[in-house]
Amino acid sequence: MILSFFQNACILIASMSAVQHFIRNKKVYPDMLLKSKILWGVYNAILGIILMINSVPITADTFIDFRYIAILLSSIYGGILSSIISSIFIGIFRFLYLGISNISLIGLIDALLMGIGFGIIALLKLSKKSKYIYSMLLFIMISVIVPFILARNQPLIVKAVIVYYSGYLIVSYLSIKYAEYILETVKIYQRLKNEATKDYLTGLNNVRQFDNSFNDISQMIIRKEKELSMLFIDVDFFKKINDTYGHDAGDAILKGLAPIFLNTCRTYDVVSRMGGEEFSIILLDCSESKAVKIAERLRKNVENNDFYISDDKTIKITISIGISSYPRLTSQIDDLLENADIALYEAKNTGRNKVVLFNNEKHNV
Ligand code: GH3
Ligand code: MG
Ligand code: MG
Repeated sequence: MILSFFQNACILIASMSAVQHFIRNKKVYPDMLLKSKILWGVYNAILGIILMINSVPITADTFIDFRYIAILLSSIYGGILSSIISSIFIGIFRFLYLGISNISLIGLIDALLMGIGFGIIALLKLSKKSKYIYSMLLFIMISVIVPFILARNQPLIVKAVIVYYSGYLIVSYLSIKYAEYILETVKIYQRLKNEATKDYLTGLNNVRQFDNSFNDISQMIIRKEKELSMLFIDVDFFKKINDTYGHDAGDAILKGLAPIFLNTCRTYDVVSRMGGEEFSIILLDCSESKAVKIAERLRKNVENNDFYISDDKTIKITISIGISSYPRLTSQIDDLLENADIALYEAKNTGRNKVVLFNNEKHNV
């Protein structure tokens, strides 16, 4: 019996460790996406079924398995949808596994009641600890109606009940503790990754991420013989804005620029803050004429936008943009950033609030 308990604990721990790998880059509790909730429900159904097959013999004709722990994990971290999905699959599998009988019918009803009950508890505005406690109370209530009705004599029932509930409490508690540890690890990983790749102020890519993306993209563009354009953007007279309205106002403007850039480009373009009030946008599979159109749209969107620098004060700003484009106007892909900077310099020197396209002949490079 001890060995069987140990086996079940190993199944639970191994399954949660495997999950850790898959959710590393996904939104996790409490912000899970619908698709993830469905997958989480199915995943725990499979876990529940494996636990059911590996049931622990308590007496000659009484077994316990930990399938309800799978439903519990499903509900606490995925909510009512995951919980119900897990319970339906587990209940149906019981029919397939045991055949149609009173016991499998009871198993199905039990699983559904647990799934719905745990799911409703998960909906309540409670701490995870309270959800766990209420779920375990519900589990005891539901399982009291059914369990061990097949046991024939009193001492067996007493032994079975003690082992059943203490086994469930210990294993479920350890499972939740381990799940919490995994969740914490995943969140730390996501936070560190975010801090290493994103600019803290605007949420755009930072320079390091820009470098990584540019290396990957440029190799891909050369291999596939596609076009690539680069925008280098600088806010006009930004120092004056800082001096006039304060550094916080300057920060508010930098933050306000990010959504304009993101909304004006396509989702797969790479928008980065290069430092200070300078930004770059890598436009994938984009010719120079398309890049000029996008840059003009950007320039106008910024010019027309009211930037909030406090709750009730807005100001207008402008930007200058230099463009370089591979392969027609810049033959070496690694020169794109430098050439966009040269074009930006010209935009600054010829009046600002404008778009300049780098041209090999004109710029004498
Ligand atoms: P130009 O039109 O020639 O680009 O003029 P400019 O004033 O924008 O150019 P300059 O590069 O001289 O000014 C950039 C300023 O940006 C200087 C610096 O104080 C400010 N700056 C750099 N980083 C930040 C930041 O994170 N927040 C704020 N508020 N200001 C910053
Ligand atoms: Mg600058
Ligand atoms: Mg500037």
